[in-house]
Amino acid sequence: ALMITSECINCDVCEPECPNQAISMGEDYYVIDPARCTECVGHFGEPQCVQVCPVECIPVHPEHVESPAQLHHKYEQLQAEA
Ligand code: SF4
Ligand code: SF4
Repeated sequence: ALMITSECINCDVCEPECPNQAISMGEDYYVIDPARCTECVGHFGEPQCVQVCPVECIPVHPEHVESPAQLHHKYEQLQAEA
């Protein structure tokens, strides 16, 4: 899963781009729910939030480093929920 750092300027452009509804407004800036972020695996070849973020504040979450197989499994679980 990816994460949003405090460099976020709350520009709002990433939130509607997320195919998993993983992004929401947090207390001070936008946040990503690691349980819903597949790094866009299953939907797109590249993380869509990273593509649109103007300040490059969306790195991999150091506590949620996942393999492509794990991310794909999460994608399938989210699809089953929907
Ligand atoms: Fe959503 Fe994709 Fe960004 Fe994860 S990488 S928060 S799934 S847009
Ligand atoms: Fe914050 Fe980047 Fe999302 Fe804009 S695109 S709200 S700066 S994380």
